[in-house]
Amino acid sequence: MRKIGFIGLGNMGKGMSINLCKENFQITGYDINQNAYNYFKDQNINIAENLKSLMNEAEIIITMLPDGASVNAVWTEIIDFSKQGQYLIDCSTIDVKTSRSVQMLAKEKGLLTLDAPVSGGVIGADQGTLTFMVGGNPDIYKDMKFLFEIMGKNSILCGEEGAGQSAKICNNMLLASTMIAVGESFNLGKNLGLDLDKLFEVISTSTGSCWAVNSYCPIKGIGPTSPADRDYTGGFATALMYKDLGLAVDAATETKTNINYGMQTFEKYKQVTTNGKGNLDFSNVINE
Ligand code: NAD
Repeated sequence: MRKIGFIGLGNMGKGMSINLCKENFQITGYDINQNAYNYFKDQNINIAENLKSLMNEAEIIITMLPDGASVNAVWTEIIDFSKQGQYLIDCSTIDVKTSRSVQMLAKEKGLLTLDAPVSGGVIGADQGTLTFMVGGNPDIYKDMKFLFEIMGKNSILCGEEGAGQSAKICNNMLLASTMIAVGESFNLGKNLGLDLDKLFEVISTSTGSCWAVNSYCPIKGIGPTSPADRDYTGGFATALMYKDLGLAVDAATETKTNINYGMQTFEKYKQVTTNGKGNLDFSNVINE
């Protein structure tokens, strides 16, 4: 039976690790927040006392952490406890530089690494329908593809180490801008006196259709169930989207890429986050 360690059992890590538990693997989980373990009472998962014991148990280790600083801290520690030939996969969304540097450090110890950030949100994590954007060696990707097929529907090898993170920040910059545009469009429709159910029916089957409308409509009571129906709780926090936009802005500065829309979008999410709404789902941006 293959032994998998899962570090970071938050909104995303919870569903991803539970989906792995359903297969015939031995899963050992770890999180610094004890409350994270509440979801695992009925699951067949071992809880590690610390990172050292998790590294002793597992052959493959997945991290799903909030940001580059936490990934850097955790990877630096686990690399110290590692054995040659262990696989380390980081599914968090972090900056390309940190992703590359921790993977290089791991490689020096003979570890096999990938960056594999995801798209699809908490729903995708729970339902096992995520898309994985992967960076790293093609042979390691081939070895680990079975995991992406359990936790997700699609995985794309985008290039070498860091390429998964590069693809992820491009995708999220587009999604963040799209969500603002969807809000403006539905607001205009409302002010023109349109029935918003009808507008949803039109847009979701017309050239304006996009994931932010079809799967995640940010208007309460319209379209499929989404965080808007729960007063924008759960889902993908505005503060995390702001973090991802910061990664895109930094990457654009480094590569001298013009991102006019991206900059306006970054400023908008910054404003919402600093106004104390960072914990609400990012689709709440349409109300601010
Ligand atoms: P989260 O804050 O809910 O979960 C992160 C977990 O990591 C928490 O439980 C936290 O206690 C734990 N953690 C933090 N530091 C730790 C450490 N040093 N050691 C062990 N555990 C530690 O965040 P999330 O929504 O699950 O997102 C995780 C990552 O996935 C982020 O990088 C985010 O950008 C990305 N992501 C999130 C979504 C989404 O919809 N939530 C979608 C795609 C990608």
